[in-house]
Amino acid sequence: MDPKVALILFLFVPLAIFLAIFIPVSIVRKIYSDFVLKHSVAIKTLKEINKHYKFADVKSQTIMHRYDNRNYYETISTKDYLTYQLVFIQKSVFEKLNDAESNKRKFEKYKEEINEKCKLNSFDTESLPKNLNRLKRFEKKLFIKTTQNPTIEFFIHVRLILTKINDQYIASKEKIYDAKTIRSLIGRVNNKIGNRYQDREIWDAISRVERERVSNKLRFRVYNRDHNRCVKCGSRRNLEIDHIIPISKGGKTVYSNLQTLCHRCNAIKGSTIE
Ligand SMILES: [Zn+2]
Repeated sequence: MDPKVALILFLFVPLAIFLAIFIPVSIVRKIYSDFVLKHSVAIKTLKEINKHYKFADVKSQTIMHRYDNRNYYETISTKDYLTYQLVFIQKSVFEKLNDAESNKRKFEKYKEEINEKCKLNSFDTESLPKNLNRLKRFEKKLFIKTTQNPTIEFFIHVRLILTKINDQYIASKEKIYDAKTIRSLIGRVNNKIGNRYQDREIWDAISRVERERVSNKLRFRVYNRDHNRCVKCGSRRNLEIDHIIPISKGGKTVYSNLQTLCHRCNAIKGSTIE
């Protein structure tokens, strides 16, 4: 056979077979779905019910942090990190928790109403298409498609990543927290008298995360600025990073609140403030 003819056959025969099957199938599909949308009593009723149910748009959240210090990465658990973040984001998290919960309640009612009012296989015309099984299948499929499917659970996904100082990935750990756990953590985070956390475990988690937000990158910047010397006594040995305003007094881990101290001066400072 002429290779050109062979090539044409090779390309066009499968295409022709494909079209010969595909076109009739899609025509039939269109006929049935049009019919169902026009005449299914259940789908019409469902569309009416849908008008009375507006669900909140709730998206679960991901919290991510990168550590470039293996020690810190290993010390901080995903729960510690979530606890720390909840101090700052609890308001928006709380709203999402409530939205998901109200969606859940509304969704129960919605399903009840659907079960009560929507009966499949009932059409408002006598002249049905020939294939009744196919008709039922299409109705069921389109009914499911028309049913609203709101988010009824809110989750927070915490992911901690260990990298090298140049951001190159080494390892990661992650956990998903459900509404019940998140609510309980928010309650514990808010259990404060003045500025003092009443829950020891919570305070430990928060201060641990705050302290260990000193990345190696940040540490080297602070050492550099302080000329690699203790800012109190000028020693070059056993240098440590110190929070000028301590974490327990609300001090944050930011460049301007960090200084270089030697271990000895740091210990003296610690003992005088507490
Ligand atoms: Zn010193």
